[in-house]
Amino acid sequence: MKIIVADDYYSNRFLVSEILKSLGHEFIEVENGKQALEALERYNDIDLVFMDIEMPVMSGLEAMKHIRESFVYPKSNIPIIALTAHNPGIFAEDCTRQGFNQTLVKPYSIDKIAELLKLYSKI
Ligand SMILES: [Mg+2]
Repeated sequence: MKIIVADDYYSNRFLVSEILKSLGHEFIEVENGKQALEALERYNDIDLVFMDIEMPVMSGLEAMKHIRESFVYPKSNIPIIALTAHNPGIFAEDCTRQGFNQTLVKPYSIDKIAELLKLYSKI
């Protein structure tokens, strides 16, 4: 799969990217929501977006809403996974209600990410 990893913290991006690399996926790292939109505009073969919620310039929530409302299908429908350190439960529910497909809660692990990608991989 080809995946956008959007997070303002280098160490978070690095960890997710290293896991994706070890699983054999391609990835594009960006630092804020605006750059995530630009990457999604530029490439036509993105399969999924990992989107941190809190980022400068444009938050993950704003970027996700922009994708859902302003991009043309099928890009408007791309799986967007919220990255968060928050406790799951109510927060995760809120994220999916807003338009995220699901949340990935820290700490990230290879098993967690492999399992998640299996759900969204093309057959
Ligand atoms: Mg952040």
